[in-house]
Amino acid sequence: MNYQSLANPSVLTQPVYEPGKPIEYVARELGLDAEEIIKLASNENPFGPSPLAVAAAKRALDRGQLYPDGGCFELRQKLAAVHGLALDQFVVGNGSNEIIELLGHVFLRPGDEVVMAAPAFVVYKLVTLLFGAKAIEVPLRDWRHDLPRMAAAITPRTKLVCVCSPNNPTGTANTEAELLAFAQSLPNHVVGVFDEAYADFLEAPPDLRPVIRAGRNVICLRTFSKIHGLASLRVGFGYAAAELCALLNRVRQPFNVNAIAQAAALAALDDREFTAKCATGNRAGLEQLMAGCRELHLETVPSVANFLLIKVGDGARVFDALQRRGIIVRPVKSYDLPEWIRVTVGTREQNRRLLENLPAALR
Ligand SMILES: *Cc1c(COP(=O)(O)O)cnc(C)c1O
Repeated sequence: MNYQSLANPSVLTQPVYEPGKPIEYVARELGLDAEEIIKLASNENPFGPSPLAVAAAKRALDRGQLYPDGGCFELRQKLAAVHGLALDQFVVGNGSNEIIELLGHVFLRPGDEVVMAAPAFVVYKLVTLLFGAKAIEVPLRDWRHDLPRMAAAITPRTKLVCVCSPNNPTGTANTEAELLAFAQSLPNHVVGVFDEAYADFLEAPPDLRPVIRAGRNVICLRTFSKIHGLASLRVGFGYAAAELCALLNRVRQPFNVNAIAQAAALAALDDREFTAKCATGNRAGLEQLMAGCRELHLETVPSVANFLLIKVGDGARVFDALQRRGIIVRPVKSYDLPEWIRVTVGTREQNRRLLENLPAALR
């Protein structure tokens, strides 16, 4: 049987996402004690999950025999109250990554174009290619999205434009004024996708709700994976015009977000104390890492997210050397940054361990 000849052509050329290595995997591979390993590779929350979310998730398990609310009614109701939009302006996904895929289902066909920055979060490109569409990549300028060039890259075939601010893997952000002007300038045949996964770490997150209210084709994406510490539960959401949310809801699985995740996310929205602690801890950690790198004469890209790009020379080699020392970071060769590693901001102690081990790993 030749399965390849039966497969969709776009599947055969589809690149594979490379996730950060799980702790247990590295422990097995290198014969290390899993307890001793720290993972600073996937921008996970070093302060753990929101405690209120954990308590709610445990309670929700007792009703595990029931299908979840496929419409995520309660969660959307709370999101609507928190964000000052209507209930039907939210779509909830199995992580915000699912919503990127749903955008592909709704809008992309072979031959369509998606404009994105390079390097930017790789999932935009993966989804684009999966639907046989073409990724139009616009290089960053001074490490930030070059929005005028991205606007100039739009053609009649463009369906989506993806903007990630703060951007992964660089940690850099565009200003609210830049983002608003860009969103307002988009032609009517293009949907602007604004990925706000790291907006919670900003002191003043940009507010794109005015352009949504004004009826522009804009969707903003948020996640519970980062500041709420719920990456394992897979829940994220988008907010946009009700009409766009209705289209996205049409193409998702009926029960795409499980009940444990819904309960946890709902409670996490109430846990302001936790998110405030994480934002403050993250800022202190960024300072600590940037100061440590300065002392080691290592170049960094000034970050406003919960991770930091560090120029180490041979990123793959330093990744490997750190891993042998029980510290998992992310090589970013696949983002065309072979001289850099991306390090998630950890706890004070984790950051200290990284900085302490860097000189030896560099040698
Ligand atoms: C981590 C991250 C997300 C979140 O993805 P989930 O599927 O919600 O876990 C989204 N966008 C970017 C750029 C990210 O780095």
